Amino acid sequence: MPSWNEQLRQSSLWVFTLPPIGLDTAYMSRSQCGGTTDTLPATYHYHEATGKHAVGDPAEDIPAFLRRELSLGSLVGMLRHLWFASAKRPAVPLHRHLAMGREIVVVGRMDLHLLWTNDGKLFVKPIPRFLLDLAFCQANLQCPIACSCDNLAAICRTSPRKVALGFLYTYACLISSESDFHVANEKRLLPCDKDDKPIKWTNWKALAKELLRMHERDPSTIHPRFLRAELRLSRINTIHRLTNIPRFNPYLRSRYNYGSLFGENLAWMATTAVFVALVLTAMQVGLATERLQSNTTFLQVSYGFTVFAILGPVCAFGLVVLDVLFHLVKDLPLLLGRQRTRRERRHTMSSTSPEGAA
Ligand SMILES: [Zn+2]
Repeated sequence: MPSWNEQLRQSSLWVFTLPPIGLDTAYMSRSQCGGTTDTLPATYHYHEATGKHAVGDPAEDIPAFLRRELSLGSLVGMLRHLWFASAKRPAVPLHRHLAMGREIVVVGRMDLHLLWTNDGKLFVKPIPRFLLDLAFCQANLQCPIACSCDNLAAICRTSPRKVALGFLYTYACLISSESDFHVANEKRLLPCDKDDKPIKWTNWKALAKELLRMHERDPSTIHPRFLRAELRLSRINTIHRLTNIPRFNPYLRSRYNYGSLFGENLAWMATTAVFVALVLTAMQVGLATERLQSNTTFLQVSYGFTVFAILGPVCAFGLVVLDVLFHLVKDLPLLLGRQRTRRERRHTMSSTSPEGAA
């Protein structure tokens, strides 16, 4: 198999430069596919229908692997609300993200690619090796000739192909200059060749040009999610909360324990308390003046705000405690399950150990 630099130099993008193939090679056995599984990752993580965390071998079931690897998760259901999280525009080059003080955080999930947080993190998914493997993409991301491109058809690969092309298109925008290319290689966002050599700049330029031409020719070739490049995570969380009633869950939690959940909520409560204190002080000064002492409207507003200032913090704190309890109850089966598994594992180990056997 030629190296990627070789492939990129020859004619680059698989979708346009090569005719679609007629055989449904994704369903062939590994040996029939030749060496195309060489570029797949060692393992991949996913959640089963029951919610159980599992690790699989990508080469064993390539369509299942691609479905998960190129999945946009719940973002698909939020497409028409994404205007709230970002305008329609191409991705900003990597060096400008760094200039804005953002830290590039490498993620594996496609749906987290180009989400940014208020505390200056930009999630970026590196380009997986297999997306630059001509033979693999031909075999697994192009529709067979017989496909009518009906999204419900099992053989249709339009959706994963659009995600893959949209993802690659964001990279054509992210890596614009040689300095972006340097940053991308430094962060290992671009795969290395099989002899661990990085992609050459001239080859990257050729691929980026092809991706731009593809987008100019027909923007519908890429998945609509990628028409809005960077998405603000806090807004995505808001959309997710409002469209997932009554579960009211954020899209991605930034906290990992109950202590940080308290801390996160106490931060906004402290800010609100400062504003309330300022208003109360101003009202107190107002009540000391003769003109406002006789103003009925001001007295009524002061009365209402004072009651709010007393009850507000109590209610807000109560809601935070309820939120923590709600998450605790929700996580309980998972925590108990984990404990049981650990106990079972310990029991199995002790029964298989020489002491246990004796
Ligand atoms: Zn199709």
